Amino acid sequence: MNHLKSVRKENELTILNIWEAKRRIASIINRTPLIQSYILSEKVGRPVYLKLENVHEIGAFKVRGAANKILSLNEEEKKRGIATFSTGNHGMAVAYVAKKLGIEAVVCISQRVPNAKVDSLKRLGAKIEIYGDSQDEAGERCYELEKEKGLTVIEPFDDPHIIAGQGTIGLEILEEVPDLKDVIIPLSGGGLLSGIGLALKSNDPSIRITGVSMEHSAVMYESLKVGKPIKLVEKNTLADSLLGGIGLDNKYTFQMVQKYMDDVLLIKEEEISYSMAFMMDKHRMIMEGAAATGVAAVLGNKVAHQEGALAIIISGQNVDLSVLRQLIQNYS
Ligand SMILES: *Cc1c(COP(=O)(O)O)cnc(C)c1O
Repeated sequence: MNHLKSVRKENELTILNIWEAKRRIASIINRTPLIQSYILSEKVGRPVYLKLENVHEIGAFKVRGAANKILSLNEEEKKRGIATFSTGNHGMAVAYVAKKLGIEAVVCISQRVPNAKVDSLKRLGAKIEIYGDSQDEAGERCYELEKEKGLTVIEPFDDPHIIAGQGTIGLEILEEVPDLKDVIIPLSGGGLLSGIGLALKSNDPSIRITGVSMEHSAVMYESLKVGKPIKLVEKNTLADSLLGGIGLDNKYTFQMVQKYMDDVLLIKEEEISYSMAFMMDKHRMIMEGAAATGVAAVLGNKVAHQEGALAIIISGQNVDLSVLRQLIQNYS
């Protein structure tokens, strides 16, 4: 009688968690636009859609997961405050949601995080702690704060509420693209891909999910190759939002990415910079390197052709002006 229950793992997420997230975050998160890119569609001979997750107030999708997590805390936890560590966008998302809800937020970041992101964090009212040379080191500081002050650490990706929050993107795409066949998703810790993968595959397992990362320091990619989470040294990349470890004791996203991702592509720095400049030129759209990895996959014809629609998750737009200036100069 309880057959299903005994087979299903206790902590496994289902599509119901994503519906629950959709209802929970509706009061503070807007549905984002989905537009067809006629230029990219023409290039690959099939409809290409862009899911514009860059248009959230903080310029990236991470508000979805952060909102779902923070709204699910109890009153006691909200009163003690929250802490997080991040290469930037997750930290901004947590600060943004905390401010909206009147909760105190501390953000621990590494010294690699670009200036534009540090300034935005301060503007959002977060308390900043700069610590160490990598996301992992900033994370250690965060857990010290949890012990010392009883703050709740809001994980950037390896948390069921975060994953379910990001999964709401999948529900929105499903409602708007009936003949969806391919979805291209920037991949770092894998919260974004796990959530969208669960949402899409629960409805139609034949939808192909492709993860995209930069060529250097692609931790999830290298971890999947050896079959367990590993650490890598972080190298500078235009896709700085894709840097960071996946956690050696990863609980959810490693397995979920393994389960839901059909293909993974690594993108060279030149391809990322060209795609960012191309989108400025042809679409008058600014996107950060992480988001441009998906465009690069399509522009470089790296996704095996099949009939039907393809959607790219445009995950964020937070990029320093100095980087854009350089890109425009080199674009031809
Ligand atoms: C965080 C982030 C990603 C990757 O999300 P994960 O859940 O860590 O895989 C992609 N693009 C942008 C802009 C991000 O901020």
